Amino acid sequence: MLCLGMEGTAHTLGIGLVDSSGRVLANTKSEYRPAKGGIHPREAAQHHGAALADLLLETLKDSGISLGQIDLVAFSRGPGLGPCLRTVATAARLLSIRLGVPLVGVNHCVAHVEIGKLTTGATDPVTVYVSGGSSQILAFIGGRYRVFGETEDVALGNALDTFAREVGIEEFPGAKKVEQLAKAGRYVPLPYVVKGTDLSFSGIVTHAVELHRAGAKVEDLCFSIQEVCFSMLTEVAERALAHTEKDELLLTGGVAANQRLREMLGIMCDERDCRFSVVPREYAMDNGAMIAWNGILMYQAGQAIDPADSAVMPKWRTDQVDALWVKH
Ligand code: AMP
Ligand code: MG
Repeated sequence: MLCLGMEGTAHTLGIGLVDSSGRVLANTKSEYRPAKGGIHPREAAQHHGAALADLLLETLKDSGISLGQIDLVAFSRGPGLGPCLRTVATAARLLSIRLGVPLVGVNHCVAHVEIGKLTTGATDPVTVYVSGGSSQILAFIGGRYRVFGETEDVALGNALDTFAREVGIEEFPGAKKVEQLAKAGRYVPLPYVVKGTDLSFSGIVTHAVELHRAGAKVEDLCFSIQEVCFSMLTEVAERALAHTEKDELLLTGGVAANQRLREMLGIMCDERDCRFSVVPREYAMDNGAMIAWNGILMYQAGQAIDPADSAVMPKWRTDQVDALWVKH
């Protein structure tokens, strides 16, 4: 069985082709980049609409697959930016109807976990999913991926990018430059905000920006914001491991590229005899293959939907999805 997966929750339009053995035949993408500032939902949706047909043709050409060989269409149904979700969902419905194949609506966050399991061999991990739009600590218990901690405001990637912009770092994405500058920095105290098992990043950003205005060195703030935010994440991840008694940790999302975050989580896992894996970059960022793979799993569990009943769900939570395909 061959599934075409379409990702479009935020700035990335991704199209992937994956078969039921988990083989990825194509994974292409086109990214919207704002000229200035953060993502503008309508502009991002316009980008996806304009790029979609060419990207689909490129995906088919790269993989040597024809439309007629596709058995299933999956799309990112949520959570995400409404205009982006609707644009991509419209295309997915059209393809499903035109090709006469079933349609599956995939939860973006759950798809990050499933492609992580597929590409690393993790079987039942606690997952730390940190990207531009999400920060969640997840684990499968009682039929669903439960949220063992999440941000109460902005996502970690967004926080680091916002901080970078506010202190005058012009490179994109800012968080990557923050990681480089942090190497020459020394610690200055910043607030450490863990509430129960939830996290809050926006006050830390505000505080760091205020210290910058008061004359603190950018390198020191880069170092400190990483140390504090990553420690918070490591603390909550460890608590989830202890509570669930799982012995695997999976790191995914765009922020997984950060070496210091990997190092901190790695040390914590070593100390607990826990297996630590990081999703390969191509599959850690938003991508179409993860939607295709989760689409196959959902279809096999009987979770296809009628195109007439496939409205997007911009606020769809990870723990609202019945993960019927997970067997343990
Ligand atoms: P995604 O939302 O999964 O596409 O991931 C994009 C996010 O990952 C953005 O917020 C980036 O700033 C962030 N990111 C990329 N590289 C790094 C890095 N080296 N350290 C921290 N965050 C990063
Ligand atoms: Mg994502």
